[in-house]
Amino acid sequence: MTFMNITLPDGSVKELPKGSTGLDIAKTIGPGLVKAAVAITANGIQKDLSDPIEEDSEVSIITIESEEGLEIMRHTLTAQVLARAVKNLYPKAKLAIGPTIKDGFYYDFEFEKPISPEDLVKIEDEMQKIIASSSSITKKLHSKAETLNAFTEEPYKQSIVESSDQKDNFQIYYQDDRNFFDLCKGPHLPSLKHIGSFKLTKLAGAYWKGNSKNKMLTRIYGTAWKNDKDLKAYMLSLEEAEKRDHRKIGKELNLFHFQEEAPGMVFWHPDGWIIYRLLQDFVRKKLDACGYKEINTPQVVDRKLWEASGHWDKYRENMFITEIDEEHANEKRTNALKPMNCPCHVQVYNQGLKSYRDLPLRYAEFGSCHRYEASGTMHGLMRVRGFTQDDGHIFCTEDQIESETKSFIELLSEIYSDLGFGSFDIKLSTRPEVRVGSDQVWDKAEQALENAIKKLGLPYELDEGDGAFYGPKLDFVLTDAIGREWQCGTFQADFNLPGRLDAEYIGEDGSKHQPVMIHRAVLGSFERFIGVLIENYAGKLPLWLAPTQLTICSITSDVNEYAQKIHNRLKELNIRSKLDLRNEKISYKIREHSNAKVPNIIVLGKNEAASEMITVRRLGSSENFSYSLEEFIDQIIKEASPK
Ligand code: ZN
Repeated sequence: MTFMNITLPDGSVKELPKGSTGLDIAKTIGPGLVKAAVAITANGIQKDLSDPIEEDSEVSIITIESEEGLEIMRHTLTAQVLARAVKNLYPKAKLAIGPTIKDGFYYDFEFEKPISPEDLVKIEDEMQKIIASSSSITKKLHSKAETLNAFTEEPYKQSIVESSDQKDNFQIYYQDDRNFFDLCKGPHLPSLKHIGSFKLTKLAGAYWKGNSKNKMLTRIYGTAWKNDKDLKAYMLSLEEAEKRDHRKIGKELNLFHFQEEAPGMVFWHPDGWIIYRLLQDFVRKKLDACGYKEINTPQVVDRKLWEASGHWDKYRENMFITEIDEEHANEKRTNALKPMNCPCHVQVYNQGLKSYRDLPLRYAEFGSCHRYEASGTMHGLMRVRGFTQDDGHIFCTEDQIESETKSFIELLSEIYSDLGFGSFDIKLSTRPEVRVGSDQVWDKAEQALENAIKKLGLPYELDEGDGAFYGPKLDFVLTDAIGREWQCGTFQADFNLPGRLDAEYIGEDGSKHQPVMIHRAVLGSFERFIGVLIENYAGKLPLWLAPTQLTICSITSDVNEYAQKIHNRLKELNIRSKLDLRNEKISYKIREHSNAKVPNIIVLGKNEAASEMITVRRLGSSENFSYSLEEFIDQIIKEASPK
């Protein structure tokens, strides 16, 4: 018997006969693991628990507790259980494919007659019955001919097998009774008893192979988790996310819209545009305080600049290109709408000779950019074709990278915290295989970024090899009120563009040097960030960002004059006040303004007018608070500035 070395995650090495399986390995570790094991990773490749291992390997046993284990469970559930349940209930249905997706899975079927969402309950019940059998699952390898033979009734499986380059070793998974089998790359659970809790969530149409020339199939989506508790938590988070969907809230609050004539470009309505401008003013003040100089550069720029910057070569398919007949010349000029601001910022830098004394030089631009995104990928404000970055570029020496990194992170952390995001994660991405710049420069820059984070005492995650080809970078990720993560801020050193576009400075030594250029943004784009804010706050924006900060409602027309007086006074103080003197019931008015998420509703009746007091109802509370006007003004002015 020949042996091989099996290295476990704790570094210990076991000598086992060649051909031992994942299950054999689990047995050498302990009975608990034998029960919990669902698959094994050997030298980075996932295998079925029953697969023989033939060479020295680093292994780890996969259980349902891990993300990998969950994915294998979802895969088994769709391929073995959902597909079988559908075949049991609809024997004439044809099986196409059933992959896993984030948090769940789907399977595409061709049904003889369309099914409805109500049928999903029936299918779920059938799935439960199949799971109750606790069948173990076994795999057999077949030649191409055998496999084609096994699926004579399944045209989609046939088509998959036929178009494969593989000659043999097609994997077919069987359940105990052998009445159902499916073709699959695996791995699968060793038994259906490992399946946790699941739910079929929706039906959709999907073309075979995603091609609209092919037949439209029925896609059944589902989600699966290791237990009921996790499933419930997930279903709740879906509901919560749906309630917070910025597209829905944007419509309800009349903030913006999209239309066919300008896909992926936002039509901002008055209230939405107030939020946009407030956010921009807020960021502008922060940038001013940090020594940035705001500039503005052209939207439409000749292709020559994009050729020089390298974008024409690398990025053209995402650029909006325009052609124009130059006046008095038989010349066509090709321009592009700028997809990013960087090359234009170098043009501003290049005006006039720069010396080391001018550095660091920080340019900021609320730069309007356009990028062509495929129509399927657009999603409300979160992914658009026209957007405005809170962009900026810092030109500095290599020695200044560290202090610039530190002050950028401080700025970003202040902005995020003012906007209500208490913490963020940092990811440091280092040199990729293909890159420009010497190792010495990379060493220095990576060290500078890392030192700055360490000096601030912040935790970070290292992503080795994930930097851009032109320099290392930091990404900043926010977590919102319901635990979703949003990558917003970025800070990227660039050793490439300054050289391509001839940016230089005269150093202390009197000779010419190339500055480092740092691309940085805190919010990313105003459009997307407003989407994030709306979802984070479920539309109830903090007072300083609310388009209407208060509405004054009269109970009777006798108090109209008093209401008008208060409104005027608040307007003078730049408080965004609205007046509602309509002849409607007060309960109706309160409901309407609460639905519009106005943070303060002032209610005025005869008592208030007689005593020169006001009654305030705060959004989300059914209590009324009574103030003198001056007390209220003091309070609202305090609350109306960013925290
Ligand atoms: Zn840039």
